[in-house]
Amino acid sequence: MTMQASEARPDATPVPASQISATRGGEKQGRAERIALGLFIALPFVALLAAVPVAWGWGLGWTDVAIATVMYFATCHGITVGFHRFFTHRSFKTNRALKITMAVAGSLAIEGPVVRWVADHRRHHKFSDKDGDPHSPWRYGETLPALLKGLWWAHMGWLFDEEQTPQHIYAPDLVKDPDIRAVSRLFWLWTTISMLLPPLVGGLIGMSWHGALTAFFWGSLVRVSLLHHVTWSINSICHAVGARPFKSRDRSGNVWWLAVLSCGESWHNLHHADPTSARHGVLRGQVDSSARLIRWFEQAGWARDVRWPDAERIDARRTA
Ligand SMILES: [Zn+2]
Ligand SMILES: [Zn+2]
Repeated sequence: MTMQASEARPDATPVPASQISATRGGEKQGRAERIALGLFIALPFVALLAAVPVAWGWGLGWTDVAIATVMYFATCHGITVGFHRFFTHRSFKTNRALKITMAVAGSLAIEGPVVRWVADHRRHHKFSDKDGDPHSPWRYGETLPALLKGLWWAHMGWLFDEEQTPQHIYAPDLVKDPDIRAVSRLFWLWTTISMLLPPLVGGLIGMSWHGALTAFFWGSLVRVSLLHHVTWSINSICHAVGARPFKSRDRSGNVWWLAVLSCGESWHNLHHADPTSARHGVLRGQVDSSARLIRWFEQAGWARDVRWPDAERIDARRTA
């Protein structure tokens, strides 16, 4: 099977060490980095757990809903259209301004610097559900206890793995790009903006500290945590359950109930069957907002050479 050979298309030219260290996130994860990672996962998650009781007590204003929704989908598409379909799989070509915008929008999701995200994800496709996959739920075996442990690992345990994906091997194209190195290096800044923009907007709209506080709770903490868990669910849930109408050499499945929240990424079986396709929800009724956005970019003249799937290509990948 050579179908996956074209999934990630990093060029193979070696990268000087000076450029690798210039990107955020080295080959080994340090202690301070692990602590920061833990905090940025745990604190928003506590807010997510508290969300219902807080909504009950404080009320949930329309301003908060609007801010959280806009931030959620802007950063979600930064990940799905930017980090995933563009930077990892090169499903389309674009101009410099949109490239940088997508790198920044994805960084605002606080899922790590773009170069590291892409390197991990390309490794995932290379070894999907085999030895070497950074986050397969089948890592510990097929019994129920092994799968439960594996699901935890695939969901978020893997993030704390000391061993990091070598970026110069899996993402040499990005390491060599000065724009991307700059965006990656400024990851701390995007994290700060992502956290402070909602309270700033909420405070100005309500002209009150209370408005800033509730916007911070919903628009920053709850929003970041929800997107984290939705993204990680693609690695855990979508590799354990779901329909498999397409041929792939792994256990990826299509999970319909995650389609809207994951911006179309939960049509994960098709994605592994045809990784460079700009559309993942290729069957009738499969909502894929990321593909819609790429289409708008194409119509605006900002995206070109888009790899849209045609009927023949889709049919060739069906299991039956
Ligand atoms: Zn996958
Ligand atoms: Zn992918």
